Amino acid sequence: MRFDIITIFPRILDSYIGESLLKKAREKGILFIHTHNLRDYTDDKHRKVDDSPYGGGPGMVLQVEPIAKAVESIKNQASDVRKRRVILFSLRGAAFDQAAAHRLAKYDQLIFICGRYEGVDERVAQYVADEEISIGNYVLSGGELPAAIVIESVARLLPGFLGKRESLEEDKGTYPVYSKPEIAVIGGKKRKVPKVLLSGDHKKIDEWRAGH
Ligand code: SAH
Repeated sequence: MRFDIITIFPRILDSYIGESLLKKAREKGILFIHTHNLRDYTDDKHRKVDDSPYGGGPGMVLQVEPIAKAVESIKNQASDVRKRRVILFSLRGAAFDQAAAHRLAKYDQLIFICGRYEGVDERVAQYVADEEISIGNYVLSGGELPAAIVIESVARLLPGFLGKRESLEEDKGTYPVYSKPEIAVIGGKKRKVPKVLLSGDHKKIDEWRAGH
């Protein structure tokens, strides 16, 4: 699977995608992540990709033409890709959830457009992107963290991404977990692990987990 991220701050994502499981998955060839600087797709001599909003109001708007050009170029770079989806991060998009992660994991390529400032010229949503996604009902400064969130949740559904030591929690339901020591001293008080988890009785343990 291939992820392409269009952003004016490509380095925001570099450290995140260069560590831990995402790093391993990229090394193993389970997935490929490419960041693209939107400023490489403008003809403007100052590499400007934003302008003020029509109708007035504060802030700047990311312009449609560099974004359309970036998407076009990325599509041409991977012309053999069969199933691809162009996603715009937007507060007006559909809320992202685990079902959306499963749906997106079926594509061969996801192209992400990260907004900044006051947002993105609406013609991107209308004519360039296939869908708009919001990662939740709160406002961030840009689409880069949303891109990292979608990549991480989709990546862990890909075959071979999770090793033996990790597991797809959502398939079992989620429950609280404890580890050593059995009695931990926290703020001078002894805090214990629930007895049932030490009982070795797997039926009881499953019941306890299902109830939490
Ligand atoms: N004034 C704008 C807010 C822009 S926030 C508005 O009302 O729409 C700047 C950019 O950050 C957005 O274009 C979007 O790409 C991204 N962003 C911010 N919060 C987000 C969220 N919860 N989900 C997805 N993208 C978000």
